[in-house]
Amino acid sequence: MSNVIVVGAGQAGASVVARLRTQGFDGDVTLIGEEPFPPYQRPPLSKAYLLGEMDRERLYLRPESYYAEQDITLHLGAPVTAIDTVARRLTVGDQTLTYDDLVLTTGSTPRRLPAAIGGDLDGVLMVRGLQDVDAMAPRFAAGARVLIVGGGYIGLEAAAVAAKRGLQVTLVEMADRILQRVAAPQTSDFFRDLHMRHGVDLREGVGLDHLTGEAGAVVGAVLSDGSTLNVDFVLVGVGIAPNTTLAEAAGVRLDNGIATDAFGRTSVPHIWAAGDCASFPRNGQHMRLESVGNAIDQAECVADNILGAEKPYDAKPWFWSDQYDVKLQIAGLGTGYDTIVVRTGDGDTLSHWYYAGDRLLAIDAMNDPRAYMVGKRLIEAGKSPVRAVVSDPTTDLKALLKA
Ligand code: FAD
Repeated sequence: MSNVIVVGAGQAGASVVARLRTQGFDGDVTLIGEEPFPPYQRPPLSKAYLLGEMDRERLYLRPESYYAEQDITLHLGAPVTAIDTVARRLTVGDQTLTYDDLVLTTGSTPRRLPAAIGGDLDGVLMVRGLQDVDAMAPRFAAGARVLIVGGGYIGLEAAAVAAKRGLQVTLVEMADRILQRVAAPQTSDFFRDLHMRHGVDLREGVGLDHLTGEAGAVVGAVLSDGSTLNVDFVLVGVGIAPNTTLAEAAGVRLDNGIATDAFGRTSVPHIWAAGDCASFPRNGQHMRLESVGNAIDQAECVADNILGAEKPYDAKPWFWSDQYDVKLQIAGLGTGYDTIVVRTGDGDTLSHWYYAGDRLLAIDAMNDPRAYMVGKRLIEAGKSPVRAVVSDPTTDLKALLKA
């Protein structure tokens, strides 16, 4: 093969093209992105960039000059609209490009609130891309009233930024507790307390019934418990959906995203997928991970397999979140845990270790990079220290790695 095209110039797409070159591939490489920017990192969009503490250039994964230096053709500002899988051709703008291998790294899109409950009113916003954040920046003025819908990581990070900037913040979470889908009650408790101490009006078990508007702009909210709020704008963080439209139209099989085999191949020959849009086999189902770590690792695995490595993807989940002065670092997947072991470290450090029986599954570390690093290495090595040893604050964590 001599010509690889990657559709979607985000975290995964950038990782595929870079890996092809570092592995010595000297054929044609094209990276196509619908956004007008070179590939950039999204995590700061709900953290330092939203806070106004980070320049746009620092978001870029690599300087624009990198792509020319590596002889990677960047095709920005237009989406790929169709793929002809038989002729191995795709359409972007008024151009037709042919490929030997094609990688879909089309990412995901935030779920919207239905128009029937006011989701299409002006001032109902989502944090997905750079342009979204640039457009909402003027609204982050001290004293403004914001309603955040959804107590997942993005909603909580946006709440932290808004509270730090002096906005009046109400956050509603329909489930019994924030982070219910992704974390143990102990971690939810920690972050609930943190937000309430910073003045966020955090309401759990309360959903949004509908938004109210005047002249097309949102001005209020009616919650599921009948209470009402006056708002200046609304931020929606209720999850994402993988971008599969292009793949589906091309006849690529979907299963919780663009379904791949263990090597990153889709159901259509010469088409691969990686990142938020792609699902891969794990424990008898097709799993998707929505994280930077997954986007990079899966993308690099696909690049290696395009070059013939025949290497199955071995996901090693990790994630992080910044809220106020707390850095949360997560390794592993806690699904199926039955016990949380709590470890308090030096100062205000804290970690929650997820066990299923005697097996360590995952760790949430709050301002405790050492616990995170040790927990991550233990999980990746399949090692499970005895629970009482972990909870004992006098245990030297690094010694656990040698055991
Ligand atoms: P993306 O980075 O979304 O890139 C996909 C690209 O494909 C987009 O630019 C899109 O416009 C483009 N595209 C789609 N369709 C087409 C088409 N037809 N033609 C051309 N281009 C197309 N993860 C963490 O691990 N830690 C965090 O703290 C964290 N924080 C986050 C905060 C925010 C606000 C957001 C939005 C995400 C966060 N994530 C975090 C998730 C992480 O950013 C994503 O998992 C990661 O970006 C996925 O990479 P990707 O390449 O699959 O998708």
